[in-house]
Amino acid sequence: MTITPIPAFKDNYIWAIQNDVNEVFVVDPGDAVPVEEFLTHNQLTLSGILITHHHADHTGGLADLCMARNIPVYGPSGGHIKGITHPVRDSDEIHVFGHKLIVMAVPGHTLDHIAYYMPADTPSLFCGDTLFAGGCGRLFEGTAEMMYTSLRQIEALPGSTQIYCAHEYTLNNLAFAQRADPDNAALTERIKTETDKRRQGLPTLPSSILLEQRTNPFLRCHTDSLQANVGRNMAQSLHSEIETFAALRRWKDQG
Ligand SMILES: [Zn+2]
Repeated sequence: MTITPIPAFKDNYIWAIQNDVNEVFVVDPGDAVPVEEFLTHNQLTLSGILITHHHADHTGGLADLCMARNIPVYGPSGGHIKGITHPVRDSDEIHVFGHKLIVMAVPGHTLDHIAYYMPADTPSLFCGDTLFAGGCGRLFEGTAEMMYTSLRQIEALPGSTQIYCAHEYTLNNLAFAQRADPDNAALTERIKTETDKRRQGLPTLPSSILLEQRTNPFLRCHTDSLQANVGRNMAQSLHSEIETFAALRRWKDQG
């Protein structure tokens, strides 16, 4: 099985999960056009779709992709996303080309946000706009507590888990991360590596849980150095991981 990014819009990735007989599932097709081009160019058949949350840049291609195809579309339950044929909830198990995927409810960015975890020799997580490389999604609908709990659940997965998030935000995220966590040597090292990849036109993804734990400030709110620095910058006295997380998210939102 191979997993390939299909670039869409300015900085979205629609992930294509491909088996060895030229069939694919795509994750979060916000636009049908690049998906159809990818299918035609590589002579692939679209076998199904996974949706992580309701935002248009993740669902906008559903109608066109499904118009002439009878394929399953998995996604958040609630009936609010038109085109979902298989609504799923936390802990549900689905199968993609014989591989088990476990649904995780990860509210915060939106209330309906789910992620798909594929346990395997190299585990994979399709997490939409929840955990990003070097950052996390904005809190459009959920609270900081919700998002923090969701990120902790993701962090509890094996360190080797490959993180397939939906945007190429990495360099921007890491530039902010360095302001928040300036003495983190692993972060300085990562900025070099990821900048190199972008110079060559390569995606910075997938990331891994382990790499995020070392370099993503939103997963480092338990460290004294980050807590102190966030407190200083936000002129706040912070007493817990969750307070630090909430203040860090506000700081990043201010730009
Ligand atoms: Zn979103």
